Amino acid sequence: MQVEARDAVLLCESCYRRLRRHLEDAADLVGHLRSIADPTKAAAYDRVRVQSSSIEIPAPVAADLIDASNDITTTLNMWANHVAGEDRPGAGLPAGVMADAAHHIVQLAVDVILEDLDALANDSHQIGALCDGVVVVNGGAPEVWTVADAAVRWPLEDSPRWAHAACPKCDLMAVRVQPGRNGRPARYRCSTEGCDWEANSNDDGGLWASVFAEPAPAEVRPHDPRWLTLVDAARLVERTTGTVRRWVQQNLLEPQLGRYWQDDVLAVAALKKGEAA
Ligand SMILES: [Zn+2]
Ligand SMILES: [Zn+2]
Repeated sequence: MQVEARDAVLLCESCYRRLRRHLEDAADLVGHLRSIADPTKAAAYDRVRVQSSSIEIPAPVAADLIDASNDITTTLNMWANHVAGEDRPGAGLPAGVMADAAHHIVQLAVDVILEDLDALANDSHQIGALCDGVVVVNGGAPEVWTVADAAVRWPLEDSPRWAHAACPKCDLMAVRVQPGRNGRPARYRCSTEGCDWEANSNDDGGLWASVFAEPAPAEVRPHDPRWLTLVDAARLVERTTGTVRRWVQQNLLEPQLGRYWQDDVLAVAALKKGEAA
């Protein structure tokens, strides 16, 4: 299949979306790494409450966690500096930083980068390097950890559900829906091996939000012709729709799902006729 470049962007659509997803996840991921590396520092972030003495993480694992969270922070701070017009190295995390503080540091950088992502994606001198630092999976214990490396090794728990519609690319019922969090849009990702389709609920004019929406519950009640529309109710008793609405406002009549029970309409009309007489 022909790869289509995102409009006015040097990246193809799926690479752009993968890059965006990893950037959006970076702060949660670093917070997650910090709370596994040192559960006593989890604080409010993971709401992990553990006795520090009961936790034994083998030294190399803890070192990887610290390296990974520090590398990601350094990379993202460097890119945030670049976007701000200052080409200088990015700061890492302070030693022993709390998970929620680490999350905050990374989120600040990410917000700056995301704001400028379309411009970066159009910059042939920058986009390759940004992808190398964020989405490339090196595997094992890499020299410099990317966001994607850490996401593979210590995945974020996001409890996605299966979508009720097929993937628009491979046509299989293999799309997973991850609800939006932290003010971010919901995501749809195909889980078919080799299919890299993904989108969020804002992409393509919000199309995917409707395609992958939870099916609405079936109508509770089959339509009974004695449930009248406002217009039919008014016509039945030879009144205006405004009059019938006024009966509703006076609590004489109670519509259900916008419809009016025929006998109730007749009863109220008879009552009103009696009052007028
Ligand atoms: Zn691509
Ligand atoms: Zn697919």
